[in-house]
Amino acid sequence: METAKYNLQGKTVVITGSARGIGFAIAEAFAAQNAHVVIVDLARESVDKAVQSLTGKGYSASGQVGDVTSGEVMEALFAAVVAECGGIDCLVNNAGITRDNLLLRMKQEEWDLVIRINLSGTFVCTQKVFRHMMKARGGSIINIASVIGIMGNAGQANYAASKGGIIAFTKSCAKEFASRGVRVNAIAPGFIETEMTATLPEEVVASYAKAIPLQKMGTPADVARLCLFLAADDSAYITGQTIAIDGGLTMH
Ligand code: NAP
Repeated sequence: METAKYNLQGKTVVITGSARGIGFAIAEAFAAQNAHVVIVDLARESVDKAVQSLTGKGYSASGQVGDVTSGEVMEALFAAVVAECGGIDCLVNNAGITRDNLLLRMKQEEWDLVIRINLSGTFVCTQKVFRHMMKARGGSIINIASVIGIMGNAGQANYAASKGGIIAFTKSCAKEFASRGVRVNAIAPGFIETEMTATLPEEVVASYAKAIPLQKMGTPADVARLCLFLAADDSAYITGQTIAIDGGLTMH
């Protein structure tokens, strides 16, 4: 078990889309800091598998099946977590998808689905969790955006719009929630080694690797470490920010 570096013991952290990929790495990192993690994902089987893999290592974890786009489902889900754990200290809005296509060929369904899951899902979960955090007068919300939301990308207009929307949404929520003690920040990962990037054509990966000053892809663990910092009191004076974790790909 990793030695705890952040004071997250006893904190409850909900991570959406965390049965696999970056979300699971985030869950594992929080669990290793002695936080209680709640895995949220679409399928019961994958949620149970992820929870078992954490509890098997001696970590504190539970699971909930939930689609981030449903206000009704997420409201009940957060209420159940609060009833079980006493509150929610951190929400990581991580669930996200891609449906890439050049704009002229992009189907309305491809546009709508990406906006619905990535952007509207982040709105739904943030709104529902904020009611609980507001009452507790504290909390940290971390939205997983993307460098594509900053720089755009051919073939990903839907994804770029959803992630750019998340960045603007993060700033607005940070302003609205600050007086209630709730911080909201976004992380913009660059190219991270996951199943999502494994589907990218080789030439696309090669061209991006060339453009990355650190000349390599990042790992889910790199993103997870930034989440720990943004959830902990170590980042108490940081809100409304989008932090790129991209090997220097975007600089401003
Ligand atoms: P991933 O491996 O595809 O995992 C995404 C997870 O979200 C899956 O478990 C998926 O469930 C779940 N999910 C999808 N729709 C959902 C919904 N409506 N409600 C609840 N859960 C849902 O993706 P990833 O690569 O780890 O990416 C995680 C996040 O990082 C995303 O927001 C992505 O945009 C962002 N990101 C990734 C990269 C990268 O390089 N990979 C770079 C920048 C940003 P199913 O398996 O059942 O579909």
